[in-house]
Amino acid sequence: MKSFPISLLDGYRNFMSGRYADARDRYRQLAENGQNPTTLVIACCDSRAAPELIFDAGPGELFVIRNVANMVPPYEPDGHFHSTSAALEFAVQALKVKNIVVMGHGRCGGIRAALDPDAEPLSPGDFIGRWMSLVRPAAEQIGSNDVMTPAERQTALERVSIRNSISNLRTFPEIKVLEDEGHLQLHGAWFDISTGELWVMDSGTLDFIRPEI
Ligand SMILES: [Zn+2]
Repeated sequence: MKSFPISLLDGYRNFMSGRYADARDRYRQLAENGQNPTTLVIACCDSRAAPELIFDAGPGELFVIRNVANMVPPYEPDGHFHSTSAALEFAVQALKVKNIVVMGHGRCGGIRAALDPDAEPLSPGDFIGRWMSLVRPAAEQIGSNDVMTPAERQTALERVSIRNSISNLRTFPEIKVLEDEGHLQLHGAWFDISTGELWVMDSGTLDFIRPEI
């Protein structure tokens, strides 16, 4: 029999004697009463950009969707398998979250691949290629801008993609209504993994700025 990764068991042991022990009552309460998070974070799968760590969130505080490059597809009730839209529907309709944060990050591999015109599919299914086609129009525009360095182009697309996802959130009829009625707020954020800086999107100018903390 293959052995379960030892690093995970070590981490679990630390969790049980540390964070779980400290929050034992909170876990029991959440088990009995159910979860009631008020914020949904849509983040990248990247192992360096975990929302619960960045926002120092305890159990039950954040509902998190993670996918390649933290993207939201447009509303497509077509009978296909839509994991992001399913989790989004649950967060908005069942949990009634008050905030949705689309959080991108620096050095995102998915965004880098979208900017690479020579990127080859990783498999015949080309699932990433199809998924990243959500930002292809913006990637083609930014990619052809030879005034910017590759790093500048990448940061630009990471941020444009966040705005793109927020626009796609508004194609979900329930989200549009809840936002218009003031029951739901949509936010953008970008985390620089090399410095730890968090930038948030200004709801007026749509620029990314450093928040007062
Ligand atoms: Zn990423």
